[in-house]
Amino acid sequence: MTHTITSIREALRAKRFSAVEVTREALDFAERENPKTNAYLMLCPERALAAAAEVDRRLAAGEEAGALAGVPIAVKDVILTKGVRTTCASKMLENYIPPYDATAVERIEAAGGVIIGKTNCDEFAMGSSNENSYFGPVRNPAALDRVPGGSSGGSAAVVAQGTAVVSLGSDTGGSIRQPASFCGVVGVTPTYGRVSRYGLVAFASSLDHIGPFARNVKDSATLLGVMAGHDPMDSTSAAASVPDYAAHLDQNDVRGMKIGLPVEYMKHATGETADRIYEAIDKLRAMGCDVRDVSLPNTDYAIATYYVICTAEASSNLARYDGVRYGYRSADPGDADSNKLFAMYRNTRGESFGAEVKRRIMLGTYVLSHGYYDAYYLKAQKIRALIARDFTNAFQSVDALVAPVSPFPAFRLGEKVNDPVSMYLSDIYTITGSLAGIPCMSVPCGTDSGLPVGLQILCNHFEEQKMFRLAHAFETS
Ligand code: GLN
Repeated sequence: MTHTITSIREALRAKRFSAVEVTREALDFAERENPKTNAYLMLCPERALAAAAEVDRRLAAGEEAGALAGVPIAVKDVILTKGVRTTCASKMLENYIPPYDATAVERIEAAGGVIIGKTNCDEFAMGSSNENSYFGPVRNPAALDRVPGGSSGGSAAVVAQGTAVVSLGSDTGGSIRQPASFCGVVGVTPTYGRVSRYGLVAFASSLDHIGPFARNVKDSATLLGVMAGHDPMDSTSAAASVPDYAAHLDQNDVRGMKIGLPVEYMKHATGETADRIYEAIDKLRAMGCDVRDVSLPNTDYAIATYYVICTAEASSNLARYDGVRYGYRSADPGDADSNKLFAMYRNTRGESFGAEVKRRIMLGTYVLSHGYYDAYYLKAQKIRALIARDFTNAFQSVDALVAPVSPFPAFRLGEKVNDPVSMYLSDIYTITGSLAGIPCMSVPCGTDSGLPVGLQILCNHFEEQKMFRLAHAFETS
């Protein structure tokens, strides 16, 4: 499918097809194409067709059908969908059926969006390649022997493949921008707190974001606009009002915009990926932007800081999976003389979490433990503040920053699975923005070895509108 949100809106208005028809087309296409990529974990035709029928009813009655009327949308399987299985790509939640919808999902359906399925990802969103899924890896539609990136690999792949028009991912340290870059689509991580986390299964709560994937900047802006805004169900959701992101995009003049290029990022960037970024900068200059070097001096500490904070928060968040209230429960009762309750906890967690999730729980438990808390966790929090301050300082002299998303394009399946440290380095350019909680996005900017490359654009807190304006101007000129 090559539809966009705008093309579906026009087609529905002109009665070229109905919402039910375009939904059926999307479901059939997804069913047919999915064996190539394994990007969907499941389709939900009943829910989708019911939502589409409601859109058709509203249209026939002359009612307002909503900004996403009839748009087929895929949702990462860490975001709760009432009555539709939500697994987090883990054996732990293989059969979990949520009793409520995430706020983002509720708002999408209220705006006429049609959720057609749930997408594959790294287990509990921990990973950069989608190879940590209990249900098998996703293949990159741009090159089927390559990873789609992670952790929201399925959500990037379905948009690249055309089996959804737009999709939702989650980003904790790069999980929207990196797969968007690897698959050649647009991916947006909004300001922390811009989109409610209610119903997003928690990985690292102070870093988790929900954000959109789309094939163009305008669609990503429309989808973000629908989801954004205060939610009383999430105490970290921001009260700031939501501008109409998509409406202002055509005021396309970015002449005179000041753009910073972080010198610490470019010193590691090599090869064709770096060439594409320098070409993008030439293009921005030709568009009238004023591009200059800026310094983010604490960048080198970002990965270490992130892996202390995210594992600490993960170890605490994942403590809830103990086999008591929901999720997997081990059938192994333990030895005759063992404490039955502890044996149940241990066997449940031992049998159902994958290796990466266990690694993070162990690391996180360690950095939070008595005697190490100050040395690791507290210190990481202080460095996080310094990293955020680097951005605050940079945004005093520039409107936006541009950077690579990833040091390399999509790698081969299996290439990095046995080297967690090299895998962690994939996120070297994305983690800083996540730690600072600022809006950042990936927009396609050419290829490296024939594989997609993304340009990252970062702006100050709540300046999504400016970020979209620059990205749209870049994409269309
Ligand atoms: N790849 C990073 C990690 O493994 C980021 C994941 C994410 O953003 N969810 O933690």
